[in-house]
Amino acid sequence: MLIVALVMMAMLTSTASGMEPIRHRALRGHQIWQLSGDGGAVSFELMQKGLMDVLGHSRTSRKVRVPSRALEEARRILQERGVAHEVLVEDLATFLEEKERLARGSVERESCFPNSCPRPFGNSYMTFKQIEWFLQNLCENSTRASLTSLGKSTENRDIWMVHLRSEGPKAGGAIWVEAGIHAREWISSAVALHLLKNLLQDDGTAGHPDVYVVPMANPDGYEYSRTLDRFWRKNRRRASNPECMGVDLNRNWGFHYGVGASDFECSEVFKGAAAFSEPETKALRDAMKKVKDNLKMVLSLHSYGQQLLYPWGYSEEETAPDTDDLIKAGNVFVEAIKNLSNTSYAVANVARDLYKASGTTEDWAKSVLGVKYTYTLELRDEGENGFLLDPSHILPCSEEVWEGLKVLLQRIF
Ligand SMILES: [Zn+2]
Repeated sequence: MLIVALVMMAMLTSTASGMEPIRHRALRGHQIWQLSGDGGAVSFELMQKGLMDVLGHSRTSRKVRVPSRALEEARRILQERGVAHEVLVEDLATFLEEKERLARGSVERESCFPNSCPRPFGNSYMTFKQIEWFLQNLCENSTRASLTSLGKSTENRDIWMVHLRSEGPKAGGAIWVEAGIHAREWISSAVALHLLKNLLQDDGTAGHPDVYVVPMANPDGYEYSRTLDRFWRKNRRRASNPECMGVDLNRNWGFHYGVGASDFECSEVFKGAAAFSEPETKALRDAMKKVKDNLKMVLSLHSYGQQLLYPWGYSEEETAPDTDDLIKAGNVFVEAIKNLSNTSYAVANVARDLYKASGTTEDWAKSVLGVKYTYTLELRDEGENGFLLDPSHILPCSEEVWEGLKVLLQRIF
């Protein structure tokens, strides 16, 4: 009771005194910069050092977020390299608060309760709890779907996997869909939930594979990004410096571990203490290993950039086995989307067209598990709103991915 009273008092005090709300406090003083000329190259170097967060998913991207602790050093290094910068956002916390203030009230409420959460949200992003309620609801009402916890996250949340058993005539293969491994890429989990709903209702147009979906691979990071830091990417592994917590879970897989990742815990691409040091990647690895003989495709959902990426990520020189088939099937996927909504997605190679990145789900599943088709799908948009994608994109983005996935599966199975 005393605690409740104290919390209430603290809430009243903060409102009465005009103190800033707790949301986005972690981003107070962070800035968004646009770099000039060939700033793209130096930005990746500074990201490894933990001084910058590269916001675009392209080689030439020059939009970066600079944490307040790194403003001075980043400015100095850019000056030394002759790269100019323009400040696009002076204070990220104020920018986000203003954006949310303008959006408030325009969204219709959607219903989701512990024993009744019939559909994934189409006009707002769900909380982790709501996602759990939806998954429980889905699996309780289906004979085909079962829900398993693959393990616990750093902060003791469940890593949920839904298994949709095939009932069709062409049973005998499986696909794996992972989403939410990067916390701030909210659209990825939203799309995964809509895919689940569609796959369950599908009459066979998507072939009849067994389907494994992990819609929220990094629940701690997701909740943190929802409440304190909208740009949070990593998990919530403790670190000596509280500003530098977390491991990049998509650099923590054990294949060419460390290439294109960072040893510095402050970096957005910190690879962790060792391959599979994190409970989240361990849980995913162990579950994927159990079903590996059946897997024909692994699809890892991310944002943003509208690209269907194929391996390798670890090397520009090496060509992955089945590259021709990966590209051809990828083209089928992007053409289907183009025909449906006129949205352009590109088929691209991770290392050659984007940047070197190893320790990813995609490279590990291709090499260690030997899965033929492994992709990373960067969802909407092309950079206009980036990670801050408006929830009005949830339905159109889900619909186009569903359309692409159907034809892709018809081709593969
Ligand atoms: Zn990502």
